[in-house]
Amino acid sequence: MQRGTNLPALGGYNQAVILDLIRRSGSGLSRVELAGETGLSGQTVSNVTKRLLEDGIIHESGKSSTGPGKPRTILQLESRARVAIGVHLDPSVITYVLVDLEGAVIGHRRSLTPSPIDPVSAIATVVAAIDALTAEAGIDRERVLGVGIAAPGPIDADRGILIAPPLLVGWDRVSLRDALIEATGLPVVLEKDVTAAAVAELWLQSGPSRDNFAFLYYGTGIGIGLALEHEVLRGASRNAGDAGHIMVADDGPLCECGLHGCLGNLVQPKALVTDAIASGLFDGPEVADEAAAVIGDGSELDAARVLLGMELIAALASRGDPRAGAVLHGVASHIARALVTIVNLLDIDHVVFGGPFWSPIAAVVLAEMPELIAKHPALVQPHPVVVTDSASGDDVTAIGAACLVLDHTFSPRPAALLISATR
Ligand SMILES: [Zn+2]
Repeated sequence: MQRGTNLPALGGYNQAVILDLIRRSGSGLSRVELAGETGLSGQTVSNVTKRLLEDGIIHESGKSSTGPGKPRTILQLESRARVAIGVHLDPSVITYVLVDLEGAVIGHRRSLTPSPIDPVSAIATVVAAIDALTAEAGIDRERVLGVGIAAPGPIDADRGILIAPPLLVGWDRVSLRDALIEATGLPVVLEKDVTAAAVAELWLQSGPSRDNFAFLYYGTGIGIGLALEHEVLRGASRNAGDAGHIMVADDGPLCECGLHGCLGNLVQPKALVTDAIASGLFDGPEVADEAAAVIGDGSELDAARVLLGMELIAALASRGDPRAGAVLHGVASHIARALVTIVNLLDIDHVVFGGPFWSPIAAVVLAEMPELIAKHPALVQPHPVVVTDSASGDDVTAIGAACLVLDHTFSPRPAALLISATR
């Protein structure tokens, strides 16, 4: 039985160590430097790099004449030699990315998730999109390392199963990973959405290293991914990050869990737009056209109309509508209250925001957030908390899913050996 993933490491432990060093170096490394940094013998480094050169995964790029001895040949990653596919299955939006070996996005697609959607048609949709994505980029199947898929939890990570995610109605123990393996013929790894988002931030972060951060995921539902000491926190069953039932308002609406004022209910995009329509926020003549697009035929809101509704709330707030401003202030203060709990508990000094519904409200919420956290009476941490947008925008979770595939390619951790040995 495979555990967790069937992704192959590319050629074992020594190769993973060497590839990882070359990737991280940016400008490349010589064989002598690789031997020095890995502790491997010159002969082993020579054998491994010969194989990587033959496979086209690295290339020689000129000589370095620094230091004693004769000039050394520099080895660099051939970043387009292999690619990974990332899929983010949100109940409202499905995002697909194709990334190269450095995590750079070289292909992208996005479509609204049909509502309702059953697992069989969802899998068919994903497979067709993957085919189109690779075809558009002119990528042969042999160059695809695998597919990472990020989905709402809870998941059974070992078996690659979605366990009845609350916002995917009728999805009860769906074997998403195995269905995709069968349909694509590619290795597949399944991860919870908030965890994938945190993985992307760790992979792609530039500037000073962020070792401890929370990722506030603003999608159809709300989650908080975590990275501590430069490792993504997954938890006992790889389901860490559920934030929907953090209580943030004593007088808030009754949640299905029996408490009042749960974060998920208070800041969920669909609930905000539904409330905005019901309260007459969109009734002004100056926004009649936009409001008509949101309200549609009055049926239950789909993802496209929720997104338009969030954009309209933000537009009204920016024009000075006090009620729209109050809606966004409510979102910011509820999220801030939940984050203070997390910051206190885990000594987090950085919060990253992203997810499929984040863009419309980003400017307003990010502007308020530092002060809301810093001045919250419950904050005990003696340091500032930096808040930023995700560096990878709305694609962050899909990119993270693809980076999980790269992780298995580059990972020099012994755990990767165990995974590939069980194949
Ligand atoms: Zn609740």
